[in-house]
Parts: sequence; C-alpha cells; structure tokens
Amino acid sequence: MKIFLSTDMEGTAGVVDWEQCVGDSPEAAAGRKLLLAEVNAAIEGAVEGGATEVVLNDSHYYMRNFPADELAAQASYISGSHKPLYMMQGLDSSFGAVLFISYHGSVGACAGLSHTYNPRAVVEARINGVVTGEAGINALVAAHYGVPVVLVTGDRVACEETEKLMPGVHSAVVKEHVSRLAAHSLHPVKARELIRDTARQAVAVASSASPPPYPRPVSLEVSVRNTDIAEAATWVRGVERVGDRELVFAGDDLLSVYQSFCAAILLTRSIAEVV
Ligand SMILES: [Zn+2]
Repeated sequence: MKIFLSTDMEGTAGVVDWEQCVGDSPEAAAGRKLLLAEVNAAIEGAVEGGATEVVLNDSHYYMRNFPADELAAQASYISGSHKPLYMMQGLDSSFGAVLFISYHGSVGACAGLSHTYNPRAVVEARINGVVTGEAGINALVAAHYGVPVVLVTGDRVACEETEKLMPGVHSAVVKEHVSRLAAHSLHPVKARELIRDTARQAVAVASSASPPPYPRPVSLEVSVRNTDIAEAATWVRGVERVGDRELVFAGDDLLSVYQSFCAAILLTRSIAEVV
C-alpha cells in the first residue's frame, strides 16, 4: 500500500513560536530537527502498519525543510516551491491512505500558531458550514482521488477539527494549547512514540477506511480580512463573492475547488501584506 504523507510544522511537540518555524536561525534549525523526528516516526509507523511505499510532501513554508538522506524507510520526497497542488502535491488515486503530520488549529481557534493558509488573508474557512483548518481543505484533494485520510497529528485543536469533518480518522495529540504562542507539549520522545504507534494502527486498518465524506457539490466558504482581498479573489475562476468579505468556492469537482482556493491565496498574497 502506497502512503501519502503531507507535513506542516506548527503542530510539532516543543514548537510554539514562529521563530522556530521559519528562517535560518539556530532555533529554526532545532525546530526542523524536532519535526524531522516526528515525520520519521510517522513513516516508520506506516511501514510497520503495512505501507510498501511512502511519499512525503513537504508542505511547510519554503517546503524544503529536511535533509532528504535523513528520511526514514527510504521515503521519497517532494519538496520545493510552486507545486501545483501545494500541500497535496503528489497525491493521486494510486495511494491507499493520507497522513497529515504536525498540523495546527484553524485561524480563529484557541490553538497554538493558529492560521489557515495565509493568516493575513483568511479569517475563517468552513466546509459546508463546519469550521475547518488546513486538514479539511487539503482533504478536498483526498476526496477527489477517493483516498481516505487515516491520521492527523498535531495539537488538540487540529485533531478535533479534522475529526469533525472526517469521523474515524486516527489522531495523535502531541500538545495542548496555552496561548497562540505557548503550549504544553509531550516530551518529544513520547510524542514520537505516540505518532509511530498511531500511524501503525491507522495504516493497518486503512484498507477499510473511507475517503473524506464530502458531498458533491461541496462548498468551501472563506471569510477574508478586507474587501480588497475579497475583490481580487473573484478574479479567480469559480469564486463567488457572497458578502463584502465572504467568498464561496463551490462545485462538484473537488480538485477544482481546491485549486481555485490555492489560486486565490496566491493571488491575494501581496494585497494581504498591506495593513
Ligand atoms: Zn499550516
């Protein structure tokens, strides 16, 4: 069974501040080391659970966070910028399951380092009225290809938000929210054990899991921070503006919905920088 693993970073045990997530500082390097160990724990767990091949898609920041030769189980590695399917690049219907590693809570949630794609643009995102973080949005691609999402790891909110949209998903909670910039984390060794065990269990039963239960048409509703962002987003095909700062990405083709959302995020990036 081929396993697709998409990794973010803000849901890593011991990571609580943006300084640990971006840049070239020693602190950021230490953050990436913590993340690598969690990713490797997930890969090893997946292999123990029956994975014959693991593809890792680096989904955080510049999306080249790991030394490729330090990845476990000879996992292949998708890294670098401008990937057409962004956090889900590489997934197709040949995969048996998707794992989300080191995910974080949605932008408005009581969760550490909470955001939904661009924190300067997106105020809230919902799938058919249910508040979602990045896992729920990325699961549009999994649903399109008919692949189940079987594991999410990260902080408690990321796991709970994912469970709401994908009942039955396995989750490994490695930290609890204290503030947006503080958390109570498991010791990294314990976090890795938990991720490895849960990944093994999730992959072992993946063949009986179902793809994310998204209806067709699906509706991805996005509230943005200001009206200029909303206006620019409508330049993307498939985007409907239903209020001053309210956008709807809807349709039967879940992949197109995801692609339109990513295009709007990319297009509005420079506008979102303006205070
Ligand atoms: Zn993220």
